[in-house]
Amino acid sequence: MELYIKKIVKDFGSYDDPSNRVRAVDRVDLHVKEGELITLLGPSGCGKTTLLRMIAGFEDPTEGDVFFGDRRVNDVAPNHRNATMVFQSYAIFPHLNVYENIAFGLRLKKMEESKIREKMEGVIDLVGLTGLESRQPSQLSGGQQQRVALARAIIMEPALLLFDEPLSNLDAKLREQMRIEIRHLQKRLGITSVYVTHDQAEAMSISDRVVVMNKGRIEQVGTPIELYARPSNSFVAAFIGKVNFMPAKIEDKKHVRIGSSLLDVMAIPEACHVGDIVIATLRPEAIEIDNIKSDDVHHGEGRILRRTFLGTIIEYEIEVHNTVFHDHLIVHTVNPITQTLFEVEEEVFIRFKEEA
Ligand code: ADP
Ligand code: MG
Repeated sequence: MELYIKKIVKDFGSYDDPSNRVRAVDRVDLHVKEGELITLLGPSGCGKTTLLRMIAGFEDPTEGDVFFGDRRVNDVAPNHRNATMVFQSYAIFPHLNVYENIAFGLRLKKMEESKIREKMEGVIDLVGLTGLESRQPSQLSGGQQQRVALARAIIMEPALLLFDEPLSNLDAKLREQMRIEIRHLQKRLGITSVYVTHDQAEAMSISDRVVVMNKGRIEQVGTPIELYARPSNSFVAAFIGKVNFMPAKIEDKKHVRIGSSLLDVMAIPEACHVGDIVIATLRPEAIEIDNIKSDDVHHGEGRILRRTFLGTIIEYEIEVHNTVFHDHLIVHTVNPITQTLFEVEEEVFIRFKEEA
């Protein structure tokens, strides 16, 4: 099923008291394709949950429309929308065992017992809970509880799956594993899904496309790679991964000047003209440092303030001496085992990589 959201708005508070009024979602347009997993990503309070609740039918839009395929569902009750929501793990019923928790929705529908049993077998196997059917929720790990919540949703065979920060109660390692499982399951079942998170790594790893939201509005929609490589503004650039911002001057359609250096750029926005002063974005891995002056041009010199070991990368914070472009830079180098390690206080030459 395809999902269309058209110019949707949600205001909270009363019209009588404007000081009390919040526009939680502000004229959002969105199209989710058949079988796609799209993620709403943004800081706390940006309107993700409100948008999801309007899709589910728990919240009435102030303006705008929600379409499931070509069916307008604004006036359709949540239980008649054929969309199910997966909450955090605590939403499972503590007094029911695993089997009864998962079968709950089918029993409400008064499905025949033999049919329930048949469906249960498939779903329990699918989410990896075989053998745990008679356990009480209190006897389950966080990950198993989350699988129960997931199973309870997918057994209803919804046309649309909605997730609101479903992994936020789990520890980091389990969260990573569950991301992969949810992604795998969603692709296997082909159910169109909308997933909400404030965690950019989670959004990047689970999604076909990501919707970056800020203050009730959409900043950008794109695949994870598009958002990373071509953020359309500084909010998106800073929210997805780390970034260095620098004042730059547009020289021509392909180059900007930063300090005395002329640099290739990936894209110059249409609204910008030659001579404009703009903000250039450089990812930390697009910058190289060395303690020996090489034959390559270098774009600046600086001193290492901080070195942080992040596993596959090392992050340096550098104080730049020729501050024409920036005071501080964040630089990432890969392969910490084979790379030269630079020390705090060491003086380094800085080079922006050509392809960056
Ligand atoms: P997110 O899920 O991105 O953290 P929410 O959708 O929960 O954001 O909230 C968006 C904005 O709407 C916030 O400013 C929040 O305080 C406000 N809000 C959400 N629900 C209500 C409500 N029931 N009444 C009043 N304000 C609300
Ligand atoms: Mg929320």
